[in-house]
Amino acid sequence: MTHAELWERHKAVMPAWLALYYEEPIEIVEGSGRRVTDGEGNTYLDFFAGILTNAIGYDIAEISDAVREQLGTGVAHTSTVYLIRKQIELAEQIAELSGIPDAKVFFANSGTEANETALLLATQNRRSNQVLAMRNSYHGRAFGTVAITGNRGWSASSLSPVNVQYVQGAYRYRSPFRDLSDADYVKVCVDDLRNVIETTTSGDVACLIAEPIQGVGGFSSPPDGLYAAFKEVLDEYGILFISDEVQTGWGRTGDHFWGIQAHDVVPDAMTFAKGLGNGFAIGGVVARAELMDSVKANSLSTFGGNPISTSAAKATIDYLLDKDLQANAAKRGAQLVDGLRGISDEYPELGDVRGKGLMLAAEIVKPDDNTPDAASTAKLQQETKNRGLLVGKGGLYGNVLRMAPPMTLTEDEAAEALEIIRESFGTLR
Ligand code: PLP
Repeated sequence: MTHAELWERHKAVMPAWLALYYEEPIEIVEGSGRRVTDGEGNTYLDFFAGILTNAIGYDIAEISDAVREQLGTGVAHTSTVYLIRKQIELAEQIAELSGIPDAKVFFANSGTEANETALLLATQNRRSNQVLAMRNSYHGRAFGTVAITGNRGWSASSLSPVNVQYVQGAYRYRSPFRDLSDADYVKVCVDDLRNVIETTTSGDVACLIAEPIQGVGGFSSPPDGLYAAFKEVLDEYGILFISDEVQTGWGRTGDHFWGIQAHDVVPDAMTFAKGLGNGFAIGGVVARAELMDSVKANSLSTFGGNPISTSAAKATIDYLLDKDLQANAAKRGAQLVDGLRGISDEYPELGDVRGKGLMLAAEIVKPDDNTPDAASTAKLQQETKNRGLLVGKGGLYGNVLRMAPPMTLTEDEAAEALEIIRESFGTLR
């Protein structure tokens, strides 16, 4: 079957609303290290790690061995109504790593389910369906998580099952507050948070949910410390804090294991998914026991925490801790930021370079008036692909290139990517 035939079959049978990259999406058939190969034999440096799913790269023996060992028992999965040794071990490890005192863990299969669960816990715990979320946020594709997503391109909040209000915080570049100092910006956001609570809610708010660095929103990073200032206000009003670590967990931000730790905040709950299974589907919530035990009805996930995905996840965490990949993310991230700033000096179309560790964004603008340039962004994404580099895209206006390679990225690979990005900017002229 040709690639064109595969694409036609995809369109005939898959929903029209599936977000895809490139006019003709590629089929990835093989991977090794940080490189993947498509069905037509082209090889690419994967600078988006799948979609932050392949945290440590492709064809990792330790992960394949762990999964094979489980498959060797003849049981891929039966049910989560029985005890699963690997699930318990993984829960213990995540509870310990979370820094949340007296923590319990629930496993699901995706970030959406993780956030739906966190919303359920918070709203049951506080007996309120009022939720605060951040403008420009993304939290998932199900009923509740779509509703709390503060990004028009991905949300349908008019059908909301929760009563949600949005506050200012992470996305500053295209806001009226761009030129403020960090300290003044934090003050503006804290005043806004207090104002939203006092003027748009009944006061009985269940929780605030926030991504420490907004993912789909274009790796928008609030100043470190913003959420510490938020936490003080939330504590004053008895509002729970949920950190959505679906993209920011496992050391990817370079400075800390969890994104929220840059703000010196211990949240009431954290949600995770994406990179944990290095490609195997797993997500979950880690929360204070008192919060986790808020649901009084029976509940379970048929597949959440199954022995295959928990084996893969345990092997992934052990690997990234053993090899100190957080430190590598910090080093390679600094190298990439330097390189991207250099490209920005040469090409004013690169309006903003932001993010940290291996979660970096390039916001693309029209140099004349600094307005978002989605067409050039799409062109750059295509041009980098033509040169053997896969990068992500996002942002409120579709004008942000996102870079989040596997955390095993080498110095030479980072240099190779920068060269391809520089060349691709050259095609805009
Ligand atoms: N939360 C964040 C911050 C995300 O970036 C995503 C997915 O991109 C989700 C939640 C939803 O995760 P999933 O696609 O696994 O349901």
